[in-house]
Amino acid sequence: MADVSLHGIAKSYGSAEILRDINLSIDDGEFVVFVGPSGCGKSTLLRTVAGLETVSAGELRIGGRRVNEMPPAERKIAMVFQSYALYPHMSVYKNMAFGLKFAKIGKEEVDRRVRQAADILKLSALLDRKPRELSGGQRQRVAIGRAIVREPSVFLFDEPLSNLDAALRVNTRLEIAKLHRELGATMIYVTHDQVEAMTLASKIVVMNHGRIEQVGAPLDLYHHPSNLFVAGFIGSPRMNFIKGQVHSIGEGSATIAFAGAQTMVEIADGRLKAGDGVTVGVRPEHMADEDPRTIPLTGRIDAVERLGEASYVYMKLDGGDDVIVRSPGDTQAVPGGHYVAHVPPHALHIFDGQGSAVRLR
Ligand code: ADP
Ligand code: MG
Repeated sequence: MADVSLHGIAKSYGSAEILRDINLSIDDGEFVVFVGPSGCGKSTLLRTVAGLETVSAGELRIGGRRVNEMPPAERKIAMVFQSYALYPHMSVYKNMAFGLKFAKIGKEEVDRRVRQAADILKLSALLDRKPRELSGGQRQRVAIGRAIVREPSVFLFDEPLSNLDAALRVNTRLEIAKLHRELGATMIYVTHDQVEAMTLASKIVVMNHGRIEQVGAPLDLYHHPSNLFVAGFIGSPRMNFIKGQVHSIGEGSATIAFAGAQTMVEIADGRLKAGDGVTVGVRPEHMADEDPRTIPLTGRIDAVERLGEASYVYMKLDGGDDVIVRSPGDTQAVPGGHYVAHVPPHALHIFDGQGSAVRLR
């Protein structure tokens, strides 16, 4: 088991800067998820921890030791990839045992570890099968088993569920969470799927263009995104953004005008000035409740998606902004009709002209 820390990590390929000034500490036993859009540098960052990529600048420490110059095999890490990369001609047992051959571990110890991993992953009955005789989910469990038998200090996962169908993804996600509880190992997990990030992580690292946008517990990021990027990335459907302007500033408060309405918010920092352009953020799931305290915003319906338990109403507000409202499953809303979205003042997010969240009280 080990903690991992990254200090000023940068990575370039030629003149292309892929990672910039990454600073992060990961505690022993933590489950950290790197999430962000495709191409933002998640895999590259994971591969630098693994030692499969060298860094252009900065220091990487695992278990308190600098590992920049240490080859992957000595870092006590094990990596699980999206492509399971199993040996097709070997049985499940041999696939799991294979990596230990080179670690000079006795036959009995290898057998103990393989059987224990198979037990944890419910693969005991499948040890003699070849990979082609397994489902996608079982193959991925073998790949995870191959990591477990190495008893690494840190597990690294790169989009391990991407090749599985939706039902299996949910299942395997639960199994990985359980595995983390049972092993108590440090895990770093890369995904572009914010639901995976929210459900698995003790700490989420949101990345964009090779930088860290925000680090926090899942619900922290949901409730207190620090900028427009994180606000739009965490939550589904994504947060609605409405153009607004600071109407006036009071003692610890600001009055914000948006979509033909006005509301006062209590602010905890003094950055805003009257006349400033702002973005008002409000989540689709907070806009359906009629309540005397909410601000009604009227508009016309573009589309309605009925999911059963809820309906997503896509509407254009009279002020011109497009928003999504998560409405009850039995809503009467129909495309072309009028609709009223209800904005609760206490659930607003305000972002300044640079896209940074304004701290609210
Ligand atoms: P992610 O895993 O977030 O989708 P990657 O870490 O794979 O993103 O890639 C980040 C960026 O680095 C991408 O723009 C990709 O094209 C670039 N990149 C990755 N590997 C190389 C390489 N070997 N040479 C040049 N560019 C690379
Ligand atoms: Mg990737």
